[in-house]
Amino acid sequence: MPLIFRIIALRFLLILSVAVTAALPANADGPAPVFDFRQVDFQDRGDVTMKGDWLFRYGELLSPVEAYAAYESGNMDVVDVPSPWSQHVPEAKENRLLKGYGSYVVRMLLPEAGEDPLVLVAPRIKDAYEIYWIPMNAPDEAVRIAAEGTMTGKLVASQGHQAHGLARGSDGLLLINVRSEMTVRQGIVRALKVYESSHYQASLQMERLFEGALMGFMLLVAVLNLCLYIFHRKDHATLVLTLAGLAILIRSVCVGGSIETVFGPEWRPFRLRLEYANAFFLLWTAVLLNQTLLWERIRHWRMITIVGGLCAIGVAYSLIAPLPYVTMAARTIQWAGFAAILMILIGCCLAVYRKVPNAIPFLLGWLTMLTAAVYDVVTTLYTGHMVNTLDVMFAIGIMAYSVTVGRRVIQAINRAEFLEEERALLQKLHQDAVDTARHDHLTGLLNRQAFDDEMAHAWLQREKEDGQLSLVLFDIDHFKGINDTHGHPIGDKVLKSVAALLKETRLRKSDRICRYGGEEFALILPGTRGKDAVKIAERLRQSIAGHITECSPDLSLIITCSFGVASASAKGPSEPALLIEEADAALYQAKATGRNRVERYGMPPQADISAKTA
Ligand code: GH3
Ligand code: MG
Ligand code: MG
Repeated sequence: MPLIFRIIALRFLLILSVAVTAALPANADGPAPVFDFRQVDFQDRGDVTMKGDWLFRYGELLSPVEAYAAYESGNMDVVDVPSPWSQHVPEAKENRLLKGYGSYVVRMLLPEAGEDPLVLVAPRIKDAYEIYWIPMNAPDEAVRIAAEGTMTGKLVASQGHQAHGLARGSDGLLLINVRSEMTVRQGIVRALKVYESSHYQASLQMERLFEGALMGFMLLVAVLNLCLYIFHRKDHATLVLTLAGLAILIRSVCVGGSIETVFGPEWRPFRLRLEYANAFFLLWTAVLLNQTLLWERIRHWRMITIVGGLCAIGVAYSLIAPLPYVTMAARTIQWAGFAAILMILIGCCLAVYRKVPNAIPFLLGWLTMLTAAVYDVVTTLYTGHMVNTLDVMFAIGIMAYSVTVGRRVIQAINRAEFLEEERALLQKLHQDAVDTARHDHLTGLLNRQAFDDEMAHAWLQREKEDGQLSLVLFDIDHFKGINDTHGHPIGDKVLKSVAALLKETRLRKSDRICRYGGEEFALILPGTRGKDAVKIAERLRQSIAGHITECSPDLSLIITCSFGVASASAKGPSEPALLIEEADAALYQAKATGRNRVERYGMPPQADISAKTA
């Protein structure tokens, strides 16, 4: 069984055992409240909760001697503990902050038998407090066994789980003085307990383990969801789950008291503020959760903004307002929480009515939360044990939804990756098709279609290039003869070999070599003047003429080409077709004047120069 289930199961067993052992040995002898533990088998029961009648006096801090006298004379009120003392004080209504003093007294008879020391555990008395042990008939020998917070100065609430030793076999009065300044529910709001120390250690460890596991899981959930959100920003549910995980984590840290344990008691006010601020934050994330998980997107932005705004005010209030006023807000938070859960439940019912796919499990989830919350309140009130099933349920819910949303996000990421791959493939296929359409199959050079496009483009770009554009047309000499003598396959080889030479020629990036048609080629030279184009053509002519083409093991040929150069400048032709015509005319001239030479349109024949260098 996974560890978390074991911890949860143990937790439930603990809660169950508390519920079963809630019956208390209170008020055994006479009118004065007594907790008689002499017959209690601590080995068997482990712990006993001090739930029942106590003596109480409001408005005074009794000294041990005064407390003893008051106990003897029966001059004290009897109140039911645990309960906030404000319930028993008529002035509470006028005293808005419920500041004041109170003293609780009860008689305790402790068992003799047994070796393990007994400890008195005060789980978070919500005031500053001091505890005295007054031996029966010897009030002068009273000892102060515990103190939390200050009884005179600036006051903060006490920390949870303070354990104080008790001597076995003693009979005495327990006096608890409390002073409150800032909380709504003060005094002994959770019953004190007496444990055998080994049992207390075990239960404490169990609690720590449980809290640690809960915090660890929430941290893990938050981090995993954050990762999912980073990889797939479209799904807001992951971000909301991250926030919810963090909110529960912060809650666990605050409620568990780890802040004081780690940083010291002076951090108590900060912890309280954080706990209250986080409650507002948790409320908002709960509303967001409903929107993103149930409806899979945020539908009511206005509602989210309004609730968010109200919660932000709550957060600011919790962090800035004077501490007593902050703690007064506890009721408001409870009501706000109740309103939020009601709103969420109404939303769920509406979704069930509209047959939204996840609505029923979602509604059941929230109903479970509600049941857990009611269970916690009732159990805490009736057993004096702080029970926190709600957090566990919330954590389980968050984990379950993280799995569901995680799966959804991973599917979406996979789909997006698949689509991206498909898109890249299509783009490549398209590019290949375009390339194939623009290139000549035999030589791999740009084809006639591409030549026309490139020519039109170069003509338009001419303006940027100072109006300069040159075109070289060239044609293999006596190619028909090669075909006729050696056959077309050899002719093809010659074409390929010339194309290979052309491809190797170093040209500018913007220059284009094309197969114009048959054994004619074209070289587009943007931004190149006529005389430079002649030089380039001459270089090409020499490299072709200087190359021996190996057509077959016993056939090598030397190929020559004739070149015609034409240039467009301010005075040149007015459209591309004319430039082509001029280059063609120059080529014709090169053929006419003996071939294997470069001629430029409008210039006298260059026959002699070419002939020399050939
Ligand atoms: P010149 O240009 O020097 O005046 O003589 P020529 O023999 O090269 O003249 P012409 O332009 O008449 O010959 C072109 C020949 O090129 C005709 C055609 O059979 C051949 N030809 C055109 N395209 C191809 C091709 O793709 N492969 C082969 N093997 N031959 C081709
Ligand atoms: Mg030819
Ligand atoms: Mg030709």
